[in-house]
Order: sequence, then C-alpha cells, then structure tokens
Amino acid sequence: MARGTHRPTVAKVDLGAIKWNINQIRNHIRPGKKLLAVVKADGYGHGAVPIANAAKEAGVDGFCVAILDEAIELRQNGFTEDFLLVMGVTEVRDVALMADSNISVTVSSFEWLEAALPLLNLRKTMNPLRIHLAVDTGMGRIGLRTKEEVQAFEAFCEKYESLHLEGIFTHFATADGEDDIQVERQYETFKELVKSMTTRPDMVHLANSAMTLWHEDFETDATRVGIAMYGYNPSDLTIPLPYELKPAFTLETEISYVKQMHEGDTISYGARYKAYEGEWLATLPIGYADGWRRDLGNQTLLVDGHRCPVRGVVCMDQLMISLPHAYPIGTKVTLLGENNGEWNNPSEMAVELGTIGYEILCGISDRVPRIYN
Ligand code: PLP
Repeated sequence: MARGTHRPTVAKVDLGAIKWNINQIRNHIRPGKKLLAVVKADGYGHGAVPIANAAKEAGVDGFCVAILDEAIELRQNGFTEDFLLVMGVTEVRDVALMADSNISVTVSSFEWLEAALPLLNLRKTMNPLRIHLAVDTGMGRIGLRTKEEVQAFEAFCEKYESLHLEGIFTHFATADGEDDIQVERQYETFKELVKSMTTRPDMVHLANSAMTLWHEDFETDATRVGIAMYGYNPSDLTIPLPYELKPAFTLETEISYVKQMHEGDTISYGARYKAYEGEWLATLPIGYADGWRRDLGNQTLLVDGHRCPVRGVVCMDQLMISLPHAYPIGTKVTLLGENNGEWNNPSEMAVELGTIGYEILCGISDRVPRIYN
C-alpha cells in the first residue's frame, strides 16, 4: 500500500488528548482497577503503536487487541513485557507462539482448550498459556454460558501446569444504549458464573467504554477502554458523556482545484448535481479509497469555519465541495475535527448515516498518513 505522503490529505492524531482522556477515565474508576487500552484495528484507525506508547506513558496497565497479529505487532515494537490480551478467537495452531510470547489468550470453548493442550509441547519456553475465559452473558458472540461449563473448564485448567487460568470476562451488548435491563441481566449472569468457580481468577473484567462511563462496577479488576480513550462517545448521541473527553483524530486536506460554475454545469459521476450560476466549486484530494465513503457525500466539510456541502458523488480519490466564495488552492479543509471554531464529529455523521462513529474512524484507510503531535 502506497501511503499518500505527496498529497496534503492527512490524519492528525493528538497524543496529548489520548493521555488526557486516560487520566480522565483513571480519575473516575475505582482506584487500583487496571486500565487496559484497547488498540485493536490499528488503534481504531489512529495507529496502534503510537497510541500504545502514549497510553503507556499515561500509565495504562496493559493492552487489548482483537487478533494475534495485532498482539505480535506490539511485542515487536517494544511492548515486550506488557500485559497483552487477544480478545478474539485465535487459531489453535498458534498456541505455542502465544505462550512463548507471553500473550494472554481468550478461550471460549472447551474443544479449543483440548486441542491446544498437546500443541503446547511445542513451546520453546516453560511459559504457561495465559487464558482468559470468555463467557457469553447476552452478547451472543463467543463464550461459555453455563456454570457447569465454567466449572468443567476451570477443573481442566487446574490439571495442567501448561494452562494458567488468568482471567474471566464478558462483553455487554447494550451498555451504550438505554436498555439498562439487559445490562443488569448480563451483570447478574456474569457475577453468578464467576461465583460458581472454585478459585476467582486474578483478572475478572467486563467493562468496555460504555460500561466504564455509565455503569462503573466495584467488583472487577480491570476495564477495557477503547473508544473513550480516543475521545468519542460510545453511544454517539444517545447518552451524554458523564465527563469531558477530547477527540484525538483530525482528518484534513487542502483544496487542489477551484473553479466557478455556470448554471446547469454537472458535477461528478452520474452528473447528478447541477451547479447554480456562479457557484464556486473546490476539488479535494480525498475519496472513498481513503475511507471517505460515498454515503458521507451528504456531509458538510469545513473551510475557514464555513460548512461546505459535498457536490456530486464522492469519487475514489477526489470529491468536490461548494464554497461560499473563491478560496485559493492550498486552503485547508477539515473533514473530521475542528476548523475555526466549527466541529465535524464522527458521532454526528454516524447517526445520520445509520452507523457508529467507530466505523468512520476505523474506515480511514492506510493511504492517509497519520501525523502525531
Ligand atoms: N472489549 C471487547 C471484548 C471488545 O470487543 C471491545 C470492542 O469492540 C472493547 C472491549 C472496547 O470497546 P469500546 O471501544 O467500546 O471501549
């Protein structure tokens, strides 16, 4: 993938905001509770390694990722000793690698564990496999669901020195919404499953950002914070944030071409937009291949504090906006973030598009260079 370092389209990531958000969250959770930074999907599009470095400087207690490669990326970039949990399902064939790399691994089925056991003989170290048992309390994604299963799992782990049951966790389906009944139900189920164990593992955890912000519990050992660390509201606009968070991501470009249109001149594929007489049009070097999806084409972009509508469909590499008057080539345009006091927040856009802010952030492609300050 060629990164676009010779064009002015960039994502600016404010590492100070990341640290500030971590401190905010830290100040609102129970003292002593571990704060785990979720840096999967390349740190929600912000860049996993720089975000993890900033988070470490801000004192987080470890990291969560979704896939093994993301954990290896961190191990290879200096995070050699840190707590590191892969939250998704991994391939059994990688079990020796995971143990040798001291990576904590999510296990969500008995079959997986049984298949993994003989493969652990291939380890080069004596490290036990650090296991976090996933329990499904209502998300319906991965995990054991009954006390009997949890007890059998625990008993199995106890039999083998190569297995270390380090944690148990669950994930909530509605913590970012107004359905507190489901949250309560999942919480109670989780507590029952943990209580059914003979020995409580060292790391009992359940919270994502939404649970951390709106449903702080006092019984678990760690919290897994993703979107809030990046400065965004997990509910988008549904529930107000209980305390301030600073968005860390700014997406900017510059006007690459400007022209004045005549009445009826058409814009972009399909010739669907027809200009009005004298309309000033700017072309920008960003398109859907950069993650500015075609359905973001009804958003307004910010030029000199003005809201400028996109005209015509978004192309793969370029798009056009209407200007209030002529601006020179090279004028800054903000797609996400702040411009002269006006803000474009992915949460607001997401609501209009029927998606979530996460998807807009993760969708900004690798072609867009990330710049850190
Ligand atoms: N925990 C699990 C299991 C997840 O899948 C995720 C993200 O999807 C998180 C924690 C972090 O979620 P959030 O970004 O809402 O904090």
